[in-house]
Amino acid sequence: MLTEERTFIAVKPDGVKRGLVGEIVNRFERKGYKLIALKMLDVTPEMAKQHYGEHEGKPFYPRLIEYIQSGPIVAMVWKGYDVVKGARAIMGSTCPNEAQVGTIRADLALVKEYNVVHGSDSIESAEREISIYFNQDELCDEYDNMAEIVIKDLGC
Ligand code: UDP
Ligand code: MG
Repeated sequence: MLTEERTFIAVKPDGVKRGLVGEIVNRFERKGYKLIALKMLDVTPEMAKQHYGEHEGKPFYPRLIEYIQSGPIVAMVWKGYDVVKGARAIMGSTCPNEAQVGTIRADLALVKEYNVVHGSDSIESAEREISIYFNQDELCDEYDNMAEIVIKDLGC
């Protein structure tokens, strides 16, 4: 049984600077996920540390914290059936050279350090990350998207 979930997706600073926002949004939009929040912002040091707390102490952590603050990000919340796992599949593996061709990271990125997109790795991470970047009143969930209508009609 597929469950409806929310996930936090961000176009990272390299993706914004390279003009890939539309391309990345399109990958999730055309799948049928429902966009319920989107904004551009500069990540503060506090947000960066909250977001990537699980990686503190790892060799790549200082560069990761610097990278996520190196320009604006485009932060989004997407909703849909099994969206946490499905969005990770659309993104591809952390390391672009190990990612499946056709995924965002395989198609658009060269190295794992600068891999253009972030996506939550679990429902719990998603809710935690959404609350770092969005207030509840910024989520626009009061509309039906086509995928929801299709899935309801199928009785899933
Ligand atoms: N990262 C890195 N070097 C590594 C592993 C990760 O620079 O060896 C960066 C990369 O930007 C990655 C982020 O840290 O997207 C978070 O790492 P994680 O393992 O959570 O990968 P993700 O969930 O983004 O696929
Ligand atoms: Mg991660």
